[in-house]
Amino acid sequence: MGGLEVNTWHMIIDVARCHDCNNCFLADKDEFVGNDFPPYTLAQPWTGHRWMNIHRKERGQYPIVQVAYLPMPCQHCSDAPCVEASTDGAVYRRPDGLVIIDPQKAEGHPEIVDTCPYGAIYWNEEARVAQKCNGCAHLLDQGWTETRCSQVCPTGAIRLVLADDAEWTEIAAAEGLEDYHSHLGTNPRVKYKNLYRWEKVFIGGSAVFKDTDECAEGARVTISSEDQLVDKGTANNYGEFIIDRLDPGTAYTVTVEADGYQLYTTTVTPDESVNLGTIFLEKVAL
Ligand code: SF4
Repeated sequence: MGGLEVNTWHMIIDVARCHDCNNCFLADKDEFVGNDFPPYTLAQPWTGHRWMNIHRKERGQYPIVQVAYLPMPCQHCSDAPCVEASTDGAVYRRPDGLVIIDPQKAEGHPEIVDTCPYGAIYWNEEARVAQKCNGCAHLLDQGWTETRCSQVCPTGAIRLVLADDAEWTEIAAAEGLEDYHSHLGTNPRVKYKNLYRWEKVFIGGSAVFKDTDECAEGARVTISSEDQLVDKGTANNYGEFIIDRLDPGTAYTVTVEADGYQLYTTTVTPDESVNLGTIFLEKVAL
């Protein structure tokens, strides 16, 4: 670690490890519902708020189906629209990077809710105040090195990282971390691993030898776009294949081939992950 560098708050969320147990969601409720932590935040109301909001998505169609879960707290953006829109310090960034809504200054200002492009800010009608995840700033200031959500995640899908900029840059590169909705340009401190499961699509299918009705184990699959090979794979012992990390809205040519059988080819432009269904490979006529 650089001697003069200051550790700041970062969070890694691994989309491939989240299995929707909701421990993080419940820990957040346990921490904040009914508990005021001035000057950090007032209590979260009983209903209506999801400071840790788990989005859910199905990928593919039966029988080739996956589910992806995207835990979504405040992203604690370094270039935060909520902070930029705040002229009176009602929303501010701490030196450790955490973005905080001042519960006194935010009182009576529902317009703060609309400043977040991720929908991470909620309106507390009873207290008349805008609220959101505070990154457990009140705990970190007491010496905690975990947030409540990172502490309880049983799969390690959520990790809090207190690191200086140089360390964080190294970690982000080594782990292939990405920003959710990077086009927003908000430079979030929450970064995602395996984000392809949310933002990319797969093409799958089940290959069968038509003459024997056997699974076409070992059939070779290629995916191309504009005559360039994008990826390739092999059908498993059920004849199934999945080629993932493809761009939605792009036209792909799929080929499936096996020795002694005619080449199968089709073109698809998937907006979502797609199961091509059963692909019957015809035997080459002798
Ligand atoms: Fe602000 Fe929304 Fe970014 Fe959180 S995610 S820092 S509320 S803009």
